[in-house]
Amino acid sequence: MNEKMLKFVKIEQQNPQKRAVDKRKEDFNEIYKEFINEKAKEQSSRCSQCGVPFCQIHCPLSNNIPDWLKLTAEGRLEEAYHLSQSTNNMPEVCGRICPQDRLCEGNCVIEQSGHGTVTIGSIEKYITENAWENGWIKPLKILTNKNQSVGIIGAGPAGLACAEELRKKGYQITVYDRYDRPGGLLIYGIPNFKLEKHVVERRTKLLKRGGIKFVQNFEVGKKIKLQDLRKKHDALLIATGVYKAREIILPGSHLKNIFPAMEFLTASNRKGLGDDVKSFDDGTLNAKDKNVIVIGGGDTAMDCVRTSIRQDAKSVKCLYRRDRQNMPGSAREVFNAEDEGVEFLWLSNPKEFKGINKVQSLIANKMKLGEPDDSGRNKPIIQKGSEFELKADIVIKALGFDPEEMPKLLGERELEVTKWGTIKTNFDTLETNIPGVFAAGDIVRGASLVVWAIKDGRDAATSIGKFLENKIKKEQKVA
Ligand SMILES: Cc1cc2nc3c(=O)[nH]c(=O)nc-3n(C[C@H](O)[C@H](O)[C@H](O)COP(=O)(O)OP(=O)(O)OC[C@H]3O[C@@H](n4cnc5c(N)ncnc54)[C@H](O)[C@@H]3O)c2cc1C
Ligand code: SF4
Repeated sequence: MNEKMLKFVKIEQQNPQKRAVDKRKEDFNEIYKEFINEKAKEQSSRCSQCGVPFCQIHCPLSNNIPDWLKLTAEGRLEEAYHLSQSTNNMPEVCGRICPQDRLCEGNCVIEQSGHGTVTIGSIEKYITENAWENGWIKPLKILTNKNQSVGIIGAGPAGLACAEELRKKGYQITVYDRYDRPGGLLIYGIPNFKLEKHVVERRTKLLKRGGIKFVQNFEVGKKIKLQDLRKKHDALLIATGVYKAREIILPGSHLKNIFPAMEFLTASNRKGLGDDVKSFDDGTLNAKDKNVIVIGGGDTAMDCVRTSIRQDAKSVKCLYRRDRQNMPGSAREVFNAEDEGVEFLWLSNPKEFKGINKVQSLIANKMKLGEPDDSGRNKPIIQKGSEFELKADIVIKALGFDPEEMPKLLGERELEVTKWGTIKTNFDTLETNIPGVFAAGDIVRGASLVVWAIKDGRDAATSIGKFLENKIKKEQKVA
């Protein structure tokens, strides 16, 4: 049965080709080329079809990876697509931007045995892109429309996944978002070179054609309070993400040209989408010909350094207080950034910003790693007398995100939050302390990953479906 599989000994691992560094630095297009059909088949055939597939266990969506790899190896691509999309609302997005080295691919058995992982993410992307090209991806067809309606606050991956799953069941869905375009961080956070915008727009158009209503430029809390929105719908989902940038308070923090990462990335993404962006056009949020320093070591920091490179910065440095092994960002993205000319200053922490009116330089300390702290990670400790100075025309702070003050933001003082400010939910149902109001994605977990947001959105849809069925039963009893 497996004659087409288990080829990992004979066939070497291959990823889709990357565009040459010099070329890809000139534009914001994605850096990976597409697999050709034969390559996707060949690479899928490397899978060892394990009895206990660790790749699947470590995929937050429990994607049935071995089976869709087998179907791909056999050339049964339409079936591979149907299987892959049955557990994932955006396989082409996850295939592009999941940190596979920490999830499915990092746990592939043939990787553990030294043969190099099956390139699962690239094949997932290939299967879905092929399905789009062949017209196999169609708007939802609803057999029986239901009268009950659900309001979803936030059009990021959590909100969109929940919307699609509930619409499949026939519910009337309205998605509200404070931005002008749906997609959340897929549109305004993650840059084009990782995820081109048309990939996200194609998905949201499909959802609209499937009958999901989108209300943009609509901030819940400002336009309408949560309790008033509750009166319009039978259930609500809060999927608003986390947007409060972590601050860095040092001497000189007040100086001009020190920006939070999202301000910088949103300006760049908007520009790419063709919007008028005054702060970019007047040079404020444009790294061209400037010495850029990015502080942080996560995915957001990597996106900022690589955006700066593409904006033709004079120099781009990334300052991170721990070492390479302890970086929270994906190893693949660090590698890509280095390739593109970013200089990493490991074990370095900012001490002071200097300048008159505008930032002109940054003083930093060298660090060493001490004993593990509460988080289990080795604590960075300042090395005495290790100060050094770096020229800076722009400093970008990419230190992570916290939730906004949700009860205040949504105009609902009763809404319970955790000590971290994330929304408190019942672990099993994702329902908040307010009956019929559910929450999912980053606003529940804290800043996380797209694949987890999709998983939470799907789980919330299951719970909301049950809640709505019970609601009908109760109403029928009363009647
Ligand atoms: C720069 C950057 C790069 C990243 N790179 C990766 C990556 O490579 N891979 C990966 O897996 N993850 C990455 N992430 C993380 C990932 O984007 C998030 O985990 C994911 O988008 C969370 O989805 P969400 O639906 O919970 O929230 P979001 O995507 O943040 O969407 C929330 C939506 O809610 C809307 N909203 C907020 N408040 C209101 C309100 N009051 N009323 C109406 N609408 C509201 C917002 O406008 C937004 O559209 C990155 C994050 C950032 C910031
Ligand atoms: S969704 Fe992410 S973790 Fe799961 S198989 Fe796809 S790339 Fe791997």
